[in-house]
Amino acid sequence: MRIEVLRIQELHLQQLLEHASQCWPHEAVAFLLGIVRNTVATVLQTHPVENVADAPSLFEVDPHTHYRLLLDAEERGLEVVGIFHSHPSDPTPSSLDVRNMRFNPVPWLISGRSKGEWSLRCFALAQGTTDQMTEVRLEVL
Ligand SMILES: [Zn+2]
Repeated sequence: MRIEVLRIQELHLQQLLEHASQCWPHEAVAFLLGIVRNTVATVLQTHPVENVADAPSLFEVDPHTHYRLLLDAEERGLEVVGIFHSHPSDPTPSSLDVRNMRFNPVPWLISGRSKGEWSLRCFALAQGTTDQMTEVRLEVL
């Protein structure tokens, strides 16, 4: 999957940031379901999930929850087009994030918080590489 643009509705972004605010200073996690056409991923649904990591500045999803979500998406003709998580501060991928991106090669939407304001950035691994990131353009509808 090579995605250059992540298209998302303003409403969905607001829902994600609300979820992030509720979890802060812990990391919030959500799956973005939708469709991919060429290099554009369109988000149609957001699914906040529980972060089961037992330390701050980490996120982990229960494998059963993840599996159920994948089945559910498939039944509706959707796929996971992105993974959202929040950082307590800077919205750039940690080295652990980069490692996990290899196993989940979809765009990673990250929110970070500075002076009470959220900012968002989106990243994906460059095609054919295991650690080179490219920034995915966010298109807010
Ligand atoms: Zn992270």
